[in-house]
Amino acid sequence: MTYGKCECGGEVREKKITYIRRFNGQPYEFENVPVGVCRDCGERIFKGKVLEKLEHIALDKRNFIKELSLPVAEFH
Ligand SMILES: [Zn+2]
Repeated sequence: MTYGKCECGGEVREKKITYIRRFNGQPYEFENVPVGVCRDCGERIFKGKVLEKLEHIALDKRNFIKELSLPVAEFH
């Protein structure tokens, strides 16, 4: 996938990351998600198509490879 240039003018390269996103209030962790990362400022650029696909994947329990319990803490 191509991402073009970052707003800062930096070069954007694709990386595969682990990414947590909520759908209907429920967090899901996705592995190996392709995202553009700016080499200069670190800004992440997600493709709309990728985000749509994440939602699609989250809708089908057969796609789940494991379940995590998630510690939650308040910043103080
Ligand atoms: Zn940048």
